[in-house]
Amino acid sequence: MKKRIQNLVDLLNQYRKEYYTDDKPTVSDSEYDVLYRELVDLEKAHPEWILPNSPTQEVGGLILEGFEKYQHQVPLYSLQDAFSREELDDFDRRVKSEFPNASYMAELKIDGLSISLVYVDGVLQVGATRGDGSVGENITENVKRIKDIPHRLKEPLTITVRGEAYLPKQSFDKINEERRENGQTEFANPRNAAAGTLRQLNTAVVAKRQLATFLYQEVGATQMTTQNAVLDELARYDFSVNTKRITTSSMDEIWTFIQDIAEERDRLPYDIDGIVIKVNSLAMQEELGFTVKAPRWAIAYKFPAEEKAAEILSVDWTVGRTGVVTPTANLTPVQLAGTTVSRATLHNVDYIAEKDIRIGDTVIVYKAGDIIPAVLHVVESKRDQQVPMPIPTQCPSCGSELIHYEDEVALRCINPLCPSQIQERLTHFASRDAMNITGLGPSMVKKLFEANLVHDVADIYQLSVADLLTLDGVKEKSAEKLYQAIQVSKANSADKLLFGLGIRHVGAKVSRQLLEVFETIDALEQAPVDAIANIDGIGNVIANSLHSYFAKEEAQTLLAELRTVAVNFAYLGQKASADAQLSGLTIVLTGKLEHFTRNEAKEKLQALGAKVTGSVSKKTDLVIAGAEAGSKLDKAQSLGITIRDEEWLAGL
Ligand code: NAD
Repeated sequence: MKKRIQNLVDLLNQYRKEYYTDDKPTVSDSEYDVLYRELVDLEKAHPEWILPNSPTQEVGGLILEGFEKYQHQVPLYSLQDAFSREELDDFDRRVKSEFPNASYMAELKIDGLSISLVYVDGVLQVGATRGDGSVGENITENVKRIKDIPHRLKEPLTITVRGEAYLPKQSFDKINEERRENGQTEFANPRNAAAGTLRQLNTAVVAKRQLATFLYQEVGATQMTTQNAVLDELARYDFSVNTKRITTSSMDEIWTFIQDIAEERDRLPYDIDGIVIKVNSLAMQEELGFTVKAPRWAIAYKFPAEEKAAEILSVDWTVGRTGVVTPTANLTPVQLAGTTVSRATLHNVDYIAEKDIRIGDTVIVYKAGDIIPAVLHVVESKRDQQVPMPIPTQCPSCGSELIHYEDEVALRCINPLCPSQIQERLTHFASRDAMNITGLGPSMVKKLFEANLVHDVADIYQLSVADLLTLDGVKEKSAEKLYQAIQVSKANSADKLLFGLGIRHVGAKVSRQLLEVFETIDALEQAPVDAIANIDGIGNVIANSLHSYFAKEEAQTLLAELRTVAVNFAYLGQKASADAQLSGLTIVLTGKLEHFTRNEAKEKLQALGAKVTGSVSKKTDLVIAGAEAGSKLDKAQSLGITIRDEEWLAGL
């Protein structure tokens, strides 16, 4: 048994590293939870064998290199968990034995990562991760790029607030779609994507990914007496606070709340993994105190795992619009999170090889929120005679040879005339975020392509009602409607057109950003690579991708055809600078700069959206200090303002 304890500690610590440090879990949370439970039970039976590095003794999370450490004034804790009504009743008994008239507040357990925000005199000074609970990573610059976090409070308060940063499901789906098309590894779930985003060094990436927050704790000095009042207070301070919560002393009511939320869970725009039940009175919370890693006044009810074992019957390989070939497993049908699942993504060839997934294998399939089910791993004990999966060498659509680029995880068909790719490109062009042509979905595209009526997106604008009426099952009314939708799309703002062209790395948001600056596709086409790359959040990869796209003869022909049919090439949206890398920040320059004149530095900062002022005050967000900086630097230091050097400015 001692050996098993040691094994469990080693294994769980390895999983913790993968989850907290690398943001790349290899097992599902529920598998982790089962092992963790086993360890807790063994340690309860033999407290003398508890190892000092046991995950039951410490809050998970290590500090990544590249971030400064941040020592929390008040530690952050984990939560005790419960998987059944009985465990909740036990918790209720424990609390009520000390406080018979205790009441609770139940709120959603957001599946993101904890953040701690420190405000001094109303100004955001520090944003930090939980880390090991006492020391976290200083991620202030990243936190400032989360739109719903106020940089400055309405009142000059000095407070520390805590909550969860998360990635909305919709943003998660978009990021993964982009990553798939770019041949990159997809994020396992929104939690990992959020953690991976906040714990990387490029602030522009954070700004782009649209993280959001829910705050739920105020540390120390509050006049409030209950958890519920704290949440109301946080909302008054303009923090984002979740409104789904109940206050009650009855476990029956909490249990009903849990069932209701479980039913609603899939429809929520963000992921939750349970419900947190907290003793509502802050005075009682203080009395109840903490164990080594969790408060005694709270418990997290975790929803049952959304995972099942299923057998892989066969695998389909499909080609996306950029030629990426994606494997999808056909499974023996299983009930998962209220739906019947018979297909699950296998992500890409590298994933299949790494997990050694074979046809005929029994695998664990899981679903998190809205995300399409995925195969997590093979159940080794059920492995029989299965042979490694045949990997296609030829495109399933056009038969040309597939390429596996060294820096990519996926296989790619690079034939631009591949029928699947053409149809996917046409479907993309007509999709909602692109030209938004209602009625031109995948099946209509297929009909048009097979009838030889469209080969590229410009052909769409040559279609007449008569052409549409030649298609199987298309009647007068729907032909007329589709024709009208196509005509209307000509007047779209050009960012929709640019996105619709499906240029690598140029998503909907990037398209808008580019056209906010260049105003027309023609101007963008003429712009030097550097001018594009220098835009905040754009960079060389996108700039080069655009450059090579516009340099292609086919692209030129296509654009000319689109012009001829009077598709609009001008941006019609608002010109906004809100997305600029330093937008909203007040910055002071001080000391001697080597690579810039003072004016150049100022211009650069302003171009990135910052306001540059002459003197340091509580309103200053950042000071850039060159050599021999004097009193301004001292003052900034005394106010705890973030200080950067010239190198940092040069690197922006
Ligand atoms: P936890 O995530 O189960 O609970 C504590 C955290 O909940 C808090 O730190 C806070 O960030 C969060 N939270 C969300 N909403 C909250 C709210 N309304 N009020 C208070 N807190 C709220 O605990 P943990 O210690 O961070 O992680 C343990 C869990 O992480 C495991 O149970 C497992 O599910 C998962 N995990 C998985 C792996 C893996 O390999 N798959 C490895 C380690 C941990």
